[in-house]
Amino acid sequence: MFGRGPSKKSDNTKFYEILGVPKNASQEDLKKAYKKAAIKNHPDKGGDPEKFKELAQAYEVLSDPEKREIYDQYGEDALKEGMGGPGGGHDPFDIFSSFFGGGPFGGGSSRGRRQRRGEDVVHPLKVSLEDLYLGTTKKLSLTRNALCSKCNGKGSKSGASMKCAGCQGTGMKVTIRQLGPGMIQQMQHACNECKGTGETISDRDRCPQCKGDKVIPEKKVLEVHVEKGMQHSQKITFSGQADEAPDTVTGDIVFVLQQKEHPRFKRKGDDLFVEHTLSLTEALCGFQFAQTHLDGRQLLIRSNPGEVVKPDSYKAINDEGMPIYQRPFMKGKLYIHFSVEFPESLSPDQAKAIEAVLPGRPSSSKKQLTEMEIDECEETTLHDVSNMEEEMRRKQQAQREAYDDDDDDDGPHGAQRVQCAQQ
Ligand SMILES: [Zn+2]
Ligand SMILES: [Zn+2]
Repeated sequence: MFGRGPSKKSDNTKFYEILGVPKNASQEDLKKAYKKAAIKNHPDKGGDPEKFKELAQAYEVLSDPEKREIYDQYGEDALKEGMGGPGGGHDPFDIFSSFFGGGPFGGGSSRGRRQRRGEDVVHPLKVSLEDLYLGTTKKLSLTRNALCSKCNGKGSKSGASMKCAGCQGTGMKVTIRQLGPGMIQQMQHACNECKGTGETISDRDRCPQCKGDKVIPEKKVLEVHVEKGMQHSQKITFSGQADEAPDTVTGDIVFVLQQKEHPRFKRKGDDLFVEHTLSLTEALCGFQFAQTHLDGRQLLIRSNPGEVVKPDSYKAINDEGMPIYQRPFMKGKLYIHFSVEFPESLSPDQAKAIEAVLPGRPSSSKKQLTEMEIDECEETTLHDVSNMEEEMRRKQQAQREAYDDDDDDDGPHGAQRVQCAQQ
C-alpha cells in the first residue's frame, strides 16, 4: 500500500518527544498525554499557539495507527507527501474539541475547506442489570436520511444548481443582537432557505424521487450488542451510520447505556450489593436462605456454626458479582448487607430467659451505678428517632438554604458568544 522505499535517515522520534511519551506508548497513554498537554498549552488559557499546534500535529499522527506506522518507519516527511503539504490534515482545534464533544473551543464549523462532518446521533438505551450481567442483543429500528439514489444526492436531474439568494451561497446567516451598551451577541445559524447548503435548484430540474431534498428517509434496523459487564453510560458506536448528507462525512450513531434500577441488586463497578434482613434469632443462632441471582440461579447462603452476625455488617461471596467487561469469565464480588430485626419489646419473662443465656451484665465493674450516683444524675427521657438519615438530611438542607439565599443566577449560560463591540 505504501510504495516508499526507506529514504534518507529521517527523524521519527520528534512527535513522541513533543508529547513526552516513549516510542512504545499505548493509544491510551498517548491520549492521556495529549489531553493533559493540550489543556495546559491551550491558547485560550494563555498557552503558546505554536506549541499547541505542534502538540495537535503530533497527536494527530500518532493517534492514527496507519499514520503512526508510516511515521515510525519513514519519519515526518513521508507523511507530508500523503497529507498534501505542511499543515495538511486537521485543524488542531478540531482534534482538541473532539475530546470534549465540540465544546467551547471548537470555534464554529466554517473553518477551512475540509469536508463537513455530519452530526453524531446519540440515543439513550435502557438496559436492565440482567442485560448487563448476561449480555444481550437489542434490535432497534431507526429512521435516518440516506443520499437519494436517483440523483446521487445532487437533488437535480441535470446535476446543476444555483447559488442560494438568501445567503449568497455561504449556507450561513449571521444575526447580530445588541445586548446592552458595548455588548453585542453574534449568532451564526444555517440558512433556512437552502438548509445550509448554499445552493438552490430550479423547480423544473428537481429530482422526482427526493423533490430536491437530496436525501430521503430510510428505515434501518441496528443490532446493538450489549456485552457482559458493560457499564451504565458506556457508549456503543455505529460509525458512519447517522444521517447522510451531500459532501459530508456521515456521523456516528451512538447508544449510551442507561441501566435501570434493579429491585434487589445494586451495582458498584464490578461488584453487586444485595440487602438481607435477619431476625434477631437468625443473627444470633444462625441462618440459611436462598438468594436468586441475576441469571436465575439460586445461591445457598448460610452462616458458619456459632457465628453471630451484627447489624449493618457485610459479607462477600467471591466471583458472584458482575462479569468484567471483555473478560467475562472473571467476576467481581457479591456483597450482602445484613440488617437485623430486633423484637419491638420483650415481656419480663422473656427478658429473664434471655438474660439467663446471654453474657452477664458488668455487675461487679464500675459501670454499675450505685444508688447514690443515680441520685446525683439528672433525669432524661429517650425519644424515638424513626429515620436518622432523613433527620440529618433535613437539618443539612435547612442549613444550606440559609447560606445560599442570595445566590440566584442572572440567566442561562448559553453557548452563544458574547463579545465586546469595537467602538
Ligand atoms: Zn441559503
Ligand atoms: Zn433525488
